[in-house]
Amino acid sequence: MSNSLRVKLVIIMILIIALLMTVVLVFLIRGVQGFYTDQFETQMRTVFSKPEFVGDLRLAAGEEDRAVAVERMNGLLLAFLGELGVDRTTRNFYILDGVTGEVLLSSNPIVSPRVEVTANILTALLGEDSFRVRTQADYMDVAVPIASHDGQANFIVYIIDNKQTVQNLNAEIFTIILRAVLIGFAIAVIISLIISKTLISPIQGMTKAAEAMADGDFSKKIPVETADEVGILAKTFNDMAAQIETMLEELQRVETLRREFVANVSHELRTPLTNIRSYAETISDNQDIPPETEEEFLRIIINQSDRMTKIVQDLLELSRYDSGASVIAPEEFSIDQAVRDVYAAIALEARKRGHVLNLELEWKLPHIKGDRAKIEQVLMNIISNAIKYTPDGGTIAIYSGTSDGCVWVKIEDTGVGIPPEDLLHVFDRFYRVDKARSRESGGTGLGLSIAKEIVSRHGGDITIESKPGTGTSVTVKLPIEWSVES
Ligand code: ADP
Repeated sequence: MSNSLRVKLVIIMILIIALLMTVVLVFLIRGVQGFYTDQFETQMRTVFSKPEFVGDLRLAAGEEDRAVAVERMNGLLLAFLGELGVDRTTRNFYILDGVTGEVLLSSNPIVSPRVEVTANILTALLGEDSFRVRTQADYMDVAVPIASHDGQANFIVYIIDNKQTVQNLNAEIFTIILRAVLIGFAIAVIISLIISKTLISPIQGMTKAAEAMADGDFSKKIPVETADEVGILAKTFNDMAAQIETMLEELQRVETLRREFVANVSHELRTPLTNIRSYAETISDNQDIPPETEEEFLRIIINQSDRMTKIVQDLLELSRYDSGASVIAPEEFSIDQAVRDVYAAIALEARKRGHVLNLELEWKLPHIKGDRAKIEQVLMNIISNAIKYTPDGGTIAIYSGTSDGCVWVKIEDTGVGIPPEDLLHVFDRFYRVDKARSRESGGTGLGLSIAKEIVSRHGGDITIESKPGTGTSVTVKLPIEWSVES
């Protein structure tokens, strides 16, 4: 491709030069010819308008003896040789018989003894001066009738120029132009190569990068060397490649997540399903099963189906966030009141486990705008986790305050804690540090994922700190941007 572009460039340059030079050549040659013929005509008119010159010629023509007359006229013409520009090679003069047009004398009788009868000679034979120079003809001439004063003797002084000088000059111009054309061609090739290098190299780079992209390799970048259109194109191409690369990576990431998610969901649902089926089968296959055992089995079946319902509900909620179907309906509410309500709702549960549940709120917490039910759900989930993952008789403290334009709620426990390597993943869907413990306490591994979704939709964030064996602290921060002081 690049080669054909290079060839095209060279051809275009050569054509432009050839065209330009032809135009210059035509104008020069015509100009030189025009100048030369004008020059000739003016020179002739000047000389033949000199009264002493024409007067003397007429006097000479009046000589009785024609040969003497011709000889005297010749003498006069020789005296004006310089002014007439006669050099006897390219330009000659002749004395013709004024009636027959016969050549009586030639300035160069050996080389040019004769003349052809031209339009100017014919006009002069009719007794009129003829200075008309025809530029198209390959000669220039003037024919001036010279009659004696008594009108008896008639001659014609005829001057002809064979245009050799102008032709030589034109040949010279042609050679110069030809040389210029050849040099021009060489320059054209060099310029084309330079242009093609700056123009074509990035295009070649782009082609290579595009080919690599087609093969799935986005690492090739085109060097951006100029700020012109080609440079902009190269930069745009690089940006586009980078964007596609990011999009593909994102797609791959999403696809991996999706696969993991489907695998997790199937796994999570299969366990309760298997349990339900096996207990139901046991009851159905054994008619003589003791009533207490049957009741126990039925309770397990109900528990397991409750668990499945919880998983499906949580999944539905997450998928509503993913699809954007779940919109936060902001209402103004007291965060103070919300925290107190959650505390009251969960206090019994904490007490059952022998935990001490502390509540420490900053004086006059602001009202905030948000979905109160959802924020309460988040807090409930975090406090439930604290209760679940703290051995009986622990301490759980709830603090709340304001800082940096945010309202924060912090839940601290003295529980089992989370190892640092797991801490990064606790917000991932279905991630559980201790699967058995989570399942045992009715966890789905989706609680913190849902909490994170809700908080981030309120423009806030949720962070977790933990020390295994010591305890965990989860902080929810919500911006007061939308908040109104109470
Ligand atoms: P789950 O339904 O299992 O509680 P979550 O998403 O709420 O799921 O929590 C994810 C995991 O993070 C839990 O399984 C648990 O291992 C860990 N975790 C959450 N909160 C605490 C906490 N206060 N103390 C120790 N581990 C916690």
